[in-house]
Order: sequence, then structure tokens, then C-alpha cells
Amino acid sequence: MHNTDKVIRAPRGNQLNTKGWVQEAVLRMLMNNLDPEVAEHPQKLVVYGGIGKAARSWEAFERIVESLKELEENETLLVQSGKPVAVFRTTKDSPRVLLANSNLVPAWANWDTFHELDRKGLMMYGQMTAGSWIYIGSQGIVQGTYETFAECARQHFNQTLQGTITVTAGLGGMGGAQTLAVTMNEGVVIGIDVDRTRIEKRIETRYCDLFVESLDAAIALAQDAKEAGKALSIGLLGNAAEVLPAMLSRHFIPDIITDQTSAHDPLNGYLPAGMTIEEGNQLRAENPEEYVKKSKASMAVHVRAILAMRDKGAIAFDYGNNIRQAAYDEGVKNAFDFPGFVPAYIRPQFCEGKGPFRWVALSGDPEDIHKTDEAILREFAHNEHLCQWIRMAQDKIAFQGLPARICWLGYGERARFGRIINDMVASGELSAPVVIGRDHLDAGSVASPNRETEAMMDGSDAVADWPLLNALVNTAAGASWVSIHHGGGVGMGYSMHAGMVVVADGTKDAEARLERVLTTDPGIGVVRHADAGYELAVDTAKKKGIHMPMLGQ
Ligand code: NAD
Repeated sequence: MHNTDKVIRAPRGNQLNTKGWVQEAVLRMLMNNLDPEVAEHPQKLVVYGGIGKAARSWEAFERIVESLKELEENETLLVQSGKPVAVFRTTKDSPRVLLANSNLVPAWANWDTFHELDRKGLMMYGQMTAGSWIYIGSQGIVQGTYETFAECARQHFNQTLQGTITVTAGLGGMGGAQTLAVTMNEGVVIGIDVDRTRIEKRIETRYCDLFVESLDAAIALAQDAKEAGKALSIGLLGNAAEVLPAMLSRHFIPDIITDQTSAHDPLNGYLPAGMTIEEGNQLRAENPEEYVKKSKASMAVHVRAILAMRDKGAIAFDYGNNIRQAAYDEGVKNAFDFPGFVPAYIRPQFCEGKGPFRWVALSGDPEDIHKTDEAILREFAHNEHLCQWIRMAQDKIAFQGLPARICWLGYGERARFGRIINDMVASGELSAPVVIGRDHLDAGSVASPNRETEAMMDGSDAVADWPLLNALVNTAAGASWVSIHHGGGVGMGYSMHAGMVVVADGTKDAEARLERVLTTDPGIGVVRHADAGYELAVDTAKKKGIHMPMLGQ
């Protein structure tokens, strides 16, 4: 039996606990996902994103750890929704682990079926990087969030958010990045959360400046900072479905309105209006149907308030939690009047295969990440935007768990940087191997019609072949672990997506794998968008020589 009070933390240093660095990397990243500095509720195995878990049960976790310790360099461990189910002989270039999380046959792909299976111990919700063991804390989303707000500033506010107020809700594992991303863009933000511990965590990790309990105080502070042109983030304790209508009744209209509560999961991710957290917990346990009913009704109120703010001039966008769909199902027929953040701000980056590339120092030594930061500044000096990001990240981002870095790199850049990192491990400049991975929210790894693939120009929003091809080709190319998930980000029935991680251990084998995987992975992103007809993606494919038979090349 596992003692759930035990604190899980990845081993550090360059001593192996397994039979090779790839297995070691898997072990450390699984444990890092559950590090209390990293995970939102580690005792429940919950990493982030509502109930996004790293393993199905503590027993499954222990068996995974044991299997990884025994795994040979030519074997592959299979994990089915957080439970280790088999080890097969494969090859040294095969992934050491293959994972499939939360996948349901389409006609059964809904929360009711999932919860029933979850209660019976037959499934777990993997969210995105939770179940595929490459979550790195809130930093994982910071640059994406920063890029989103930066593009919003370029389109609507003269290049900067200085002198603007953003209102959002949900300061959880991912949503907590919003406060920092807005201040990085020089703006003012009020981030509403019902759970004081979440706001406190963001303050501790320097993602948020102030904790405020009164709406009037939050508005006054925000307006003063806006007038002074100062960046400021305010964590406001409250329920968004109550606070937004209260803002409207005070005639307070922010410049930007969005939301990152875990609305994708109405049972576990969203607290209905008018309830304390304890009352919510009790209702959830005693009458889950009633909870979901209340939760969705509150989301409708929440979305109506967003629409009302938009009518009064606020820039509104959905931030990837499917709240528009819930409101629409509740009868808010114009819920989709405001766009999702991908078509509004991010898609051009996907057309160049750009997305949230990340790497983690298995040594646990922050110095290793600082050295890779220097490598980016040196090797990508021509890319001022990227260099500015790295300098800002060095200054403002506190590491959680194993030291890690994220930056958006595109096709060609990822393979190049992978080689550089591997060389740095080989030469001993870095004190241990490095893990390279990405979010599932990437150019070619998701089908999610209310998010990453919303409003595709050829109407192919719901085509889910692409993330499956992504996982298959990354497996063929020799990624270290590969995963196929359903329901991440936007909930059951609304997405299919794939994860990928590859280890740079300084060997020649790793060099070849990195070259292949860091080409196929962003390559699928370019191809998916070129196939849909995006000119930028077609140009990228042509310029980079990506072989697409239907493009005549
Ligand atoms: P999380 O579960 O860690 O955090 C959700 C937060 O919302 C919690 O702190 C909770 O207290 C708060 N909350 C719940 N109901 C509330 C209410 N009514 N009013 C105010 N606060 C409330 O989840 P997360 O990892 O931060 O992800 C949040 C959402 O964003 C998810 O739906 C996720 O899928 C989505 N997401 C979006 C992106 C993106 O880039 N757009 C990336 C990752 C996740």
C-alpha cells in the first residue's frame, strides 16, 4: 500500500536508478509530474487540468516505477489509462513507453461513460501532459499565454497591453500563467479564483503580485495601475459567475475578458455560483448530477456576462476550456459569437510548425538550464523575439520541480536545438541528460474543433487522423515515449491529441533520434495546415523541402 502522505520527487544527479538514461528520464519525469512543487493535488495523483492524473492509482504508480527500474534498453512498457499493462521486446530505437489515455469509442465518448469507467477503476483522465509525463508546472504554458496576449496587443492595442485591464478567471496549474503573461505584456490583470490556496500558490511562485478579497478594492487597484501605465496582477477571491455580473452592475468593463477555469469538466473543474468549496465538495459526492446541472447553469451566466462585456467594447476570447460549448448547450445560442484563441491569435505560428517546445534538466541543476538559455541566445541571436523571451523567462520564472525551460520553436529550429543540447550533454558541458518534449497543444498533434482546430479554412476541424499520424510517425522515428489521448483541454468527446518526448543523452543514437523526431513532429504540424490550404504552411513546406505528394513535391 502506498502511503499517500509520502512526497514524490524525481531523483537528481547523474546516478542511474534504472538500466539506461531513457528509462531514467521516464522515471524522473513521472515523479516530477507528482512533485508537490509541480502538481496541483499530488496526493490524489492529480497534476493539473481538473482531474488530469499521472497514474490511475497509487498501486499502478508503484508498478510503473518497478517496471521502469527493470526495463531493458530493447523493451517497451505499455500503459493503458495510467495502468502498466505489458512489457514487450521491441528495439533500442523504439519508444521505452507507449501510453494511451482516456480513449473512448466515439459514440460513447462523453463524461457520463468516462465517470462510470473511472469509478469502476477502468480509466483515468490524462488531460494532456499530466498523463504523458511531461508537465513542467505553470511555465509550460507561460510562453503560449504570453504569445497569445502579445498578439492580442498587436491586433487591438498598439503592440502592448500597457494601460489596459484584462479580467480572467481560473488561476490553476495552467490558468495561473495568465497573470504573469499579462504583466509580461505590461498590462494590468484581475484573475478571479474561488480557491484561495490557488491564488496563494501563484503569489508564492511569483506568477501573481497581489491577493485581494474585495471586488471594489480590486477594481480600484486595477484602475490606478492602468492610469499610471504600470503592470500589475491581482488575484481576486471569488466565483467568476458571481464576480463578472457584479462588475457589470458596477459598469466596470475591462479591455480584455477571457477565462481559464476548468470548465471542460463540469463535475470537477468548475464551482457553481453561490457555493463554498466545501458545499461544492459535498454536493459533488452526494449528487453529482445536480452538481453538473448547477455548474453548467453557472457557466451560462458566466458566458452571458462575457458576451455583455464584449457588447460594451471588451475584447473577448475563449481560452481553450470549452466554456462556450457548455453555455451553448444551456441555451446561450450566441455563445460562439466570440472566437477561440487559436484562430484569433495562434494559428499562423502553427503554420510554421511553431509550438510549445520544452526541455528539462534531469540533473536537477538549474545551471544546466541557464547554460541552454545561453545557447539559445548565442545560436538564435538573429531571432530577437525569441531572445527577449528567454531573457524575460530567466528573470521572471521560478522553476517548479526539475529545472525546465520552454520556448516556441518551429520546423527546423527544433531539430537544430535538439542537436545542440545533445552535443552539450556529450561534451560534459551539461551535468546530465536532458529531456525534450512539448505540450499536446501544438501545431500537428491535436484535433479539437473548439480549440486548436477551430474554424480551419477547409472545414476539417473534426478530422482526428492528424494526431494519430503524429503519434505513429514519432513512434517510427524513435521518440522515447509517445502517447495518444482523448478529451484533454476541452473534455470528453471534444478532442484527440498526442504527446511526444525524446531524450538527449549525448549518444550518437540519441543524436539520430532527435534529428528524426524533432523533424517529423513539427513537420506534421506544417503538413496538417498546408493540407488545409493555409498559404503560410504551404510556403513553409515548400521552403523547407517537406515532401507532400499532393503538393507536387
Ligand atoms: P486547474 O483545474 O488546475 O485550475 C482551474 C481553476 O479554476 C482552479 O484554481 C479552480 O479553483 C478555479 N475555478 C473553478 N471554478 C471557478 C469559478 N466558478 N470561478 C472562479 N474560479 C473557478 O486547471 P488548469 O490546468 O489551470 O486549466 C484550466 C483550463 O484551461 C482547463 O479547461 C484547461 O483545459 C484549459 N487549458 C487551456 C490552455 C490554453 O493554452 N488555452 C492550456 C492548458 C489548459
